[in-house]
Amino acid sequence: MTASPPLSSVPMLRARGVTKTYPAGRRDRVPVLRGIDIDVRAGEMVSIVGPSGSGKSTLLYCLAGLEPVDDGEVLLGADRIDGATPAQLAKWRRDRLGFVFQSYNLIPSLSVRENVALPARLAKHRTPDAEGALRAVGLADHAGKRPGELSGGQQQRAAIARVLAAGPPLVFADEPTGALDTTTGAVVLDLLRGYAIGERSVVLVTHDLDAAARADRTVVLRDGAVVAQLVRPTSAEILAVAHAEASA
Ligand code: ADP
Ligand code: MG
Repeated sequence: MTASPPLSSVPMLRARGVTKTYPAGRRDRVPVLRGIDIDVRAGEMVSIVGPSGSGKSTLLYCLAGLEPVDDGEVLLGADRIDGATPAQLAKWRRDRLGFVFQSYNLIPSLSVRENVALPARLAKHRTPDAEGALRAVGLADHAGKRPGELSGGQQQRAAIARVLAAGPPLVFADEPTGALDTTTGAVVLDLLRGYAIGERSVVLVTHDLDAAARADRTVVLRDGAVVAQLVRPTSAEILAVAHAEASA
């Protein structure tokens, strides 16, 4: 009898050879991801850095099952995300994944409080603490407003509160501090850093190298390929690698 590996040695997320193209014109396709391998273990925060257009957002979408991959495989625990049915994907997105979009994606007709509570309500087993999540991001006083009444930075924080309230095992965050001032950005980063312990993990896309350096591991992307994986790097080390790759 073969012993199955201990649960903790199975990565929370495992991607192998992920490729993705987008159509360009009528016949051509441009490669955006060229064979990406990535592992995210439980309790880990992994940051992804790379120049604009290097494929960071596309990679997050593919890892979260929001975009189909052309080739390769994406495993969420033991489950294949690539090629899963829409119903399976919807269920996993509801129960196991959280996504902080670069564009926030709040529902305009709902209050901030309702927006934050919605994913948690859909995943019926959870008791949403929308107020607590809003307090954590400094938006307690804005719970009754509509997203349109908030600034970009406030909407970004509401999008983060929405994920915190749902509390999924795996959170993807695409430039979650992009619209925030330094102080508020530091609060959000602390929240995401603190989230990634035990059975919870975070994948953070950022162009802020200090933010990237808060992660356990940093993946450097360039032209849709992983050019380096750094373990607990300093921001200076990330900069050195990114720059060396850029000028190579
Ligand atoms: P990043 O997040 O690193 O800035 P993206 O993943 O957004 O990069 O984009 C990577 C490349 O893919 C860019 O060249 C972009 O123009 C292209 N791209 C992204 N989304 C689409 C799409 N829906 N259709 C066609 N091309 C796209
Ligand atoms: Mg992007």
